[in-house]
Amino acid sequence: MSDLFVQLSAPNGCTWLQPTGLFINNEWVKSSNGHKIASINPATSEEIISVYGATAEDVDKAVKAARAALTDPTWRDLSGLERGKLMSRLAKLIEDNRETLATIDTIDNGKPYTVALNEDLTETAETIRYYSGFADKVFGQVIPTNADKFAYTVREPVGVCGQIIPWNYPLAMAAWKLGPALACGNTVVLKPAEQTPLSALFLANLIVEAGFPPGVVNIVNGYGSIAGAALASHMEVDKIAFTGSTETARHIMKMASGNLKNITMETGGKSPLIVFNDADLTEAVKWAHWGIMSNQGQAQVKNVSKVGDPFDASTFQGPQVTRAQYDRVMSYVRMGQAEKATLLCGGKPVKDIGNGKGFYIEPTVFTDVSPEMRIYREEIFGPVAVIARFATDEEAIRMANDSTYGLGGAIFTTNLTRAHQVAGRVEAGTVWINFSNVGDWRVPFGGVKQSGIGRELGQAGLDEYTNIKAVHVNVQSKL
Ligand code: ADP
Repeated sequence: MSDLFVQLSAPNGCTWLQPTGLFINNEWVKSSNGHKIASINPATSEEIISVYGATAEDVDKAVKAARAALTDPTWRDLSGLERGKLMSRLAKLIEDNRETLATIDTIDNGKPYTVALNEDLTETAETIRYYSGFADKVFGQVIPTNADKFAYTVREPVGVCGQIIPWNYPLAMAAWKLGPALACGNTVVLKPAEQTPLSALFLANLIVEAGFPPGVVNIVNGYGSIAGAALASHMEVDKIAFTGSTETARHIMKMASGNLKNITMETGGKSPLIVFNDADLTEAVKWAHWGIMSNQGQAQVKNVSKVGDPFDASTFQGPQVTRAQYDRVMSYVRMGQAEKATLLCGGKPVKDIGNGKGFYIEPTVFTDVSPEMRIYREEIFGPVAVIARFATDEEAIRMANDSTYGLGGAIFTTNLTRAHQVAGRVEAGTVWINFSNVGDWRVPFGGVKQSGIGRELGQAGLDEYTNIKAVHVNVQSKL
C-alpha cells in the first residue's frame, strides 16, 4: 500500500484507514517536495503519523482545480435542490462515521472523546444538514423601478473560497465554512491547522462518497506560513474565510489585498462574564466553569474540572493541543504571579496521567486581577480564569468593553431589565444571558472590534458566500 493511506488505531479500539496526502480534484497526492508534518498526540507527546504538507505549488494546483470546478457544468449547472442532496448525504455520512471522526479528533487534538462525539460531531453533521436545506433557497428579489423598467437580483457564488481553519474545533470549523460555501455553489480549498489535520483528511473521503464532483472541495494540509500564505495571496482565490488569531488575521488581510478578496474573519477574544450580586450564584459558577474551561480553555469565550486522559469518560479537561500551547499557557500563569494577582488554585502541570508526557495543565483561577494586568487583557486560550471586582453596572460595562476584542460576553442576573440593558451595551458579537459559551448553528456567530469581520452560521452566514448581481430590464425600449 502507498504511504498515502495508513492503518491507524486508538486506545478505544477504533481502527481506520488514515489518508496522509493532499486532497486535490477528488484525488490523493503527495506534496510536490515530499515534505511531511508530524501530527502529535498531546496526551502522550508521541507522533501519531506524519502527513503531507502543501507547498505553494500544491496550493496553486488545488486552486486551479477549484477554479475549473466552479465553471464546470456538473457543478455550475447543478440545481440547488441537487446541491442540497449532496450536502445532506454528506451530513449522513458524517453521522455514520461519527465514532471514527471523534476518535481522530481525540488523539489529534486532545479533547475528551465524549465531547468530540457528542458535541463536535453533532455540530459538524447538523451544520452541514442545516445549510443543505438552504441550497435551493438562495435567491434574489424583483425590484420595480418605474413604469417601463424593473430590475431583478441574482445571488451568485463568490467563486473560489480559501478557508483557513484552526485546531480548537477541527471538524466543526470545517463544517462552519464548508456548509454555507457549498450551499451557495462556491468551490473550496480548505486548509486545516497543521496541528490537527487528520479528521479533515478523513472527511475528504466522505466528500467523494457523497458524490461531490472533482475540484469542488479540495483539502490541503500545510503550514500557515507556507500553504496558508499561498492561499491568502493567490490571485485566483476570490474569498478568504479565516478562523484563528488576530495577529495572523492581520497578515492574511494584507495578503488578501492583492486582488481585493472578499474576507470573513473570526479571530481572538477575551470575553467578559459578568456576575451581578442578584445572580443565582450556583448557576453562574457552573456556567463560568463551562465557559472558560471547556475545550481545555481553548474556546475564545472568558471557571470542578477533572483533568484526565481524553478517552476516560469522566474527563472534563484533556491536554493542551501542542507543546507550544502548553508553554504559552504556563507563561501566562507565571506572568499572573509576577503581576501580583492572587493564584487561587491550579497553575501547575499535571504529570500523573498516562505516560506522564502529556500537555496537561491544572484548571487555574486568578483573583485580585486588575484591568492593567496582561492576564486581564490578553487572550490566554487555556484553562485560566481571571476574576476582577466591580461595584456598579456602569463600571461592569466599562470593564467589559475595555478590550480590543469583542467576541462574546455573558451576563448573570435575575433582573430582566438589567439583563437586556447590559446585553445591549456589551461590545461583542454574542452575548449570553444566564449561561455561557453555548453555540448553535442556527444562530450567527462572529466578532466586533478585533475579534472579526463578518458572521458565520445562521442565515447570516450565507450572505458572506454570495455576490448580488443586479439585472436591469427595459420592458419598453424607449429612451
Ligand atoms: P493559533 O495561534 O491559534 O495556532 P493561527 O492564527 O496561527 O492560530 O492559526 C490558525 C490557522 O491559520 C491555521 O490553519 C494556521 O496554519 C493558519 N496560519 C498561520 N499563519 C498563517 C499565515 N501567515 N498565513 C496564512 N495562514 C496562516
